[in-house]
Amino acid sequence: KEFRNNVKPNWCPGCGDFSVQAAMQRAAANVGLEPEGLAVISGIGCSGRISGYINSYGFHGIHGRSLPIAQGVKMANRELTVIASGGDGDGFAIGMGHTIHAIRRNIDITYIVMDNQIYGLTKGQTSPRSAAGFKTKSTPQGSIEPALSPMEMALSAGATFVAQSFSTDLKDLTAIIEAGINHKGFSLINVFSPCVTYNKINTYDWFKENLTKLSDIEGYDHTNREEAMQTLMKHDGLVTGIIYQNTERKSYQELIPGYAPEALAKADLDLSQESFDKLVAEFT
Ligand code: SF4
Repeated sequence: KEFRNNVKPNWCPGCGDFSVQAAMQRAAANVGLEPEGLAVISGIGCSGRISGYINSYGFHGIHGRSLPIAQGVKMANRELTVIASGGDGDGFAIGMGHTIHAIRRNIDITYIVMDNQIYGLTKGQTSPRSAAGFKTKSTPQGSIEPALSPMEMALSAGATFVAQSFSTDLKDLTAIIEAGINHKGFSLINVFSPCVTYNKINTYDWFKENLTKLSDIEGYDHTNREEAMQTLMKHDGLVTGIIYQNTERKSYQELIPGYAPEALAKADLDLSQESFDKLVAEFT
């Protein structure tokens, strides 16, 4: 309850992002966080508004740049739980360079992508997650590019936590976000979050017909990277659940020699003019 604020989301009625917001709030409460212990950093897009709808620290950044900001926040204050969020256009197009390097860097933050396979805020253009043949204002004769496979990309880049969920499955989505927060390293969670206004192909019904739950695949082992990749390829990426988790690899922070154990915000810093002048002199 404490993660709710009094800002009313201006998403379209039925937008999948409502459930993602609810799941984030529930997950934060379930893992025992207080609002002052959470920072939500978002990019640009309909989903980017989410940082203003949660009672926590929030930062609505610029297009594709939620991850550099989120990583900086975590490095400056390791005591905060940091969630970066945005859409598939934000994270898998303009922000893709940051996404890949955040994955391989393995800083202990959670990245939640609201994947609606279209650009919603700018009124419906083909995104990197739109399928070949997808018709929009930007591709009136159908897209001639194939869709990006973000989960396969994440596995290839060395991700230590890769999961996928569907915004109608609130219980499953909440549990996955909890697992992502608890994971000691970078966790990527891609959420199929339908855009009911502009995407008339990848609808709630379409996902219900096409998604496979990993829990329904007998013997699926989410610690086996090879099996994870093969399963993704077999199901064209349309699976939900924890696809892969590696708890052995250390996070970025754990590998930094001498990384300050206390939050920078709480460190006993010498803020005198003399100290400042000395610091500046070191860089000149
Ligand atoms: Fe959601 Fe689409 Fe409306 Fe944006 S345009 S708020 S993504 S339904």
